Amino acid sequence: MSDLDDARAALAEHARRLVADRLVAGTAGNLSVRVGDLVAVTASGVAYDTMTPEDVVVVDLAGTPVVGTLRPTSELPLHLLCYRRHGASAVVHTHSAAAVALSLLRDDVPLVHYQTAIFGGAVSVAEYAPYGTDELAATTSAALADRTAAVMRHHGTIVLGATLRAAYDGAAHLEWLCDVWLRAAAVGTPRVLTTDQVADVVERFRGYGRRDHASPDGRDE
Ligand code: 13P
Ligand code: ZN
Repeated sequence: MSDLDDARAALAEHARRLVADRLVAGTAGNLSVRVGDLVAVTASGVAYDTMTPEDVVVVDLAGTPVVGTLRPTSELPLHLLCYRRHGASAVVHTHSAAAVALSLLRDDVPLVHYQTAIFGGAVSVAEYAPYGTDELAATTSAALADRTAAVMRHHGTIVLGATLRAAYDGAAHLEWLCDVWLRAAAVGTPRVLTTDQVADVVERFRGYGRRDHASPDGRDE
């Protein structure tokens, strides 16, 4: 199988997971992976729970179709901007409930948990614009500055990753963070971490993870 075939299969599998993990409803949300100068991306309006690799189309970085007959996602301008401007290798866009709820109340995701650091710091809420527009791509790109995720007001989330798995896990984490804040805010005024505390974890995460030759405390030498 070629890298493109692998990417199309992985996208169909993760699309089905999006429904199972309740990160999207119906045909909402979309996913893509960059393979060299091409992008494999879910088609518009295709049900995720039954998606197959053939439902994933391939375009170049200008959006010109290369493989597949279906129309690419309506959020193609946003996905392409994530590759061209933000250096992503994979992009996951959800319509997850807690993130949308938070977007109605906040301009950023409060620093309720150190896991916020996986996105590079506090995650911003992008201003609303109609779905599928260049304007939405622009407001979301602005919110993504120096971060790998943004919440999209009245809409959902966008998460970038070095791999599809990383972007997907990030989307699940972001939804969890929003849910934690909503639960706490429902009963009181949540305490939050300082930006310095989160910046410290951003540094720690640079040395985090499985490795073959870890130093005794698991951090980089
Ligand atoms: P598509 O079905 O075109 O991917 O659109 C879903 C969506 O999330 C629009 O923002
Ligand atoms: Zn959407």
